[in-house]
Amino acid sequence: MKVLVPVKRVLDYNVKPRVKADGTGVDLANVKMSMNPFDEIAVEEAIRLKEKGVATEIVVVSIGEQKAQETLRTALAMGADRAILIVSEDKVEPLGVAKLLAKVAEAEQPGLVILGKQAIDDDNNQTGQMLGALLGWGQGTFASKVEVAGDSVDVTREVDGGLETVKLKTPAIVTTDLRLNEPRYASLPNIMKAKSKPLEQKTPADYGVDVTPRLTTVKVEEPAKRQAGVKVADVDELVGKLKTLGVVA
Ligand code: AMP
Repeated sequence: MKVLVPVKRVLDYNVKPRVKADGTGVDLANVKMSMNPFDEIAVEEAIRLKEKGVATEIVVVSIGEQKAQETLRTALAMGADRAILIVSEDKVEPLGVAKLLAKVAEAEQPGLVILGKQAIDDDNNQTGQMLGALLGWGQGTFASKVEVAGDSVDVTREVDGGLETVKLKTPAIVTTDLRLNEPRYASLPNIMKAKSKPLEQKTPADYGVDVTPRLTTVKVEEPAKRQAGVKVADVDELVGKLKTLGVVA
């Protein structure tokens, strides 16, 4: 079966985000960008399915600016077979991304689409679910284990207070949680090989999808700075301070 893996280029998780001075968003100029960590887990899972002989081809797809080519090349270096970049220099919201992915899925006919559970830039946690709804396919979100057997897939999900296993008929949607696997690093020879793997370029118009934003960002601001703590000598002083601050009556 073919596996489709959408990967997003986001601010690297080690970088402390800086809000733009005019409060319109996060400053992405000259900062390190990387593949969304949950998408690395999705690529790794697809590669493991291929190594087990379950997956036959891994297609990675990204919607974003030209620079997202780097993210796709990273996925190719990890072990994906081919890539599709849908170029949009403007930000595309989850519904627009899901509509584009639905078109790609209709064209590619994958048995599984494995997405990250969320992109760490906007923390939306929407795209996989919207894609499931648009395609009418079953979905196993927050997966910590994925087992394909014939034309069904068992997905173990991390839910409040435990694990839930759902059985889905393929084609199906899976979104990855942190504990699904530990993604591999691409080796230097594989990074070189990835340069000659196919990377097709498309636009939203090629798929007839209107990606005009529906939301307006009103304001982005830094979280309030934490105040320094104070040391108290004993419980009485602590209670006194809490009373002064109005925390206890
Ligand atoms: P979100 O709903 O934005 O939190 O994203 C969830 C998942 O959808 C991500 O982990 C990716 O797998 C996929 N995704 C979201 N935006 C994009 C994008 N622009 N290009 C490719 N995949 C995306």
